[in-house]
Amino acid sequence: LGRRINAAVTDLTRSQNLDEKAFDSMVKEICNALLEADVNVKLVAGLRQSIRRSVNFKELAPGVNKKRVIQKAVFDELVKLVDPHAEPFKPRKGKPNIIMFVGLQGAGKTTTCTKLARWYQARGFKSCLVCADTFRAGAFDQLKQNATKARIPYFGSLTNTDPVAVAAEGVEKFKRERFEVIIVDTSGRHRQEDALFEEMVQIQQAVRPQQTVMVLDASIGQAAEAQSRAFKEAADFGAIIITKTDGAAAGGGAISAVAATHTPIVFIGSGEHLLDLERFDPRAFVGKLLGMGDMQGLMEHVQSLKLDQKDTMKHIASGVFTVRDLRDQLSNITKMGPLSKMAGMIPGLSNAMQGLDDADSAAKLRRMIAITDSMTDKELDSDGKLFVQEPTRMTRVARGSGTSVREVEELLTQQQTMATMAKRMKGGMANMQRAQGAM
Ligand code: GDP
Ligand code: MG
Repeated sequence: LGRRINAAVTDLTRSQNLDEKAFDSMVKEICNALLEADVNVKLVAGLRQSIRRSVNFKELAPGVNKKRVIQKAVFDELVKLVDPHAEPFKPRKGKPNIIMFVGLQGAGKTTTCTKLARWYQARGFKSCLVCADTFRAGAFDQLKQNATKARIPYFGSLTNTDPVAVAAEGVEKFKRERFEVIIVDTSGRHRQEDALFEEMVQIQQAVRPQQTVMVLDASIGQAAEAQSRAFKEAADFGAIIITKTDGAAAGGGAISAVAATHTPIVFIGSGEHLLDLERFDPRAFVGKLLGMGDMQGLMEHVQSLKLDQKDTMKHIASGVFTVRDLRDQLSNITKMGPLSKMAGMIPGLSNAMQGLDDADSAAKLRRMIAITDSMTDKELDSDGKLFVQEPTRMTRVARGSGTSVREVEELLTQQQTMATMAKRMKGGMANMQRAQGAM
């Protein structure tokens, strides 16, 4: 998709007469590419209208970089579509916050509810899991294994086959034990069916969740609209989590689900591992959907600054991004300024820097660099996974850098985001480098 959009933009800028017709054909080309990425047909039509409205081609001053203006319009419109415009659910300390997961079988509920419990655990909430999936054999075993790995307390039953009773019992137990985040995993079905919806509603009535989350597989495609609408009608959910964003799917279906249900995406799953959960970042998400998005802008900017990027560029071209790469990027960023803008171009970092002014961002960056300065060479050159295998490493680094384990984890999450990006960009970057004859 990214390649097609880039091609469309390049064709336009190459043609000598940048007229309305060329503009129209480029918009059309981009919209076709979006359709191919499973963005809903009606949405694409709307997008086309707004791009036409927002870019007045004839009135652009001669000196203006038209390619940039159009690229930005496409990017901005898509961001507007998925931007939640609302605060995500915030659990309250000292209270039981019940979160219920719904979604089809295989969507990633069980995997994601453990990730989310761990996420809140790491942020100081006493978190636990309740397995209300009595439908699929082995469901409780799977949750048990995940929870044990993450050291999250769990509840379930091998004998009781009534999901409503098990859910109610588990939630009651953990409420009594003063847990703060209680996540209820439910069963799915291969398809939407009445039995599933009835079960969902009954569990919802029994446990009265503060938040119901629908889990959607990024590869859902055009079915996303109908499916999310049906789930929304049955069990009014207040948040969406998109899983498997590390896969090949362009994720256009996710956009349709948001538009059809007016429900924000709060997190995305970016891998099978426990730490592969990221707060949803509209700009990064659209960047991925469009192929390179802001990353390309960032690379161009970095190249223009003639900073030492050789190793990182080589790494990205081969689909790798180590902790040291993140460290080098961080220290380069401090040279580039204005920080808030630069950081916003890096997926993962834009989250961390949200709401901070330049002075705060600079302080934050210094802390992050301090963290990496406390790492060994082996750790710096790793893909970051060894910190998860041996969590005491995080404790050591936090102590050594005068920061917290949470900050170390945050940094590693950002590095993981970049590593996922690098994996996806492997081919594209190699082409870019060949084209530039560099390195
Ligand atoms: P459930 O039926 O909805 O509970 O789905 P599961 O949690 O059992 O997940 C189904 C499969 O998807 C499992 O093999 C998971 O490891 C995998 N999975 C879940 N989330 C992700 C993700 O973000 N990325 C990848 N690559 N795989 C995932
Ligand atoms: Mg499951």
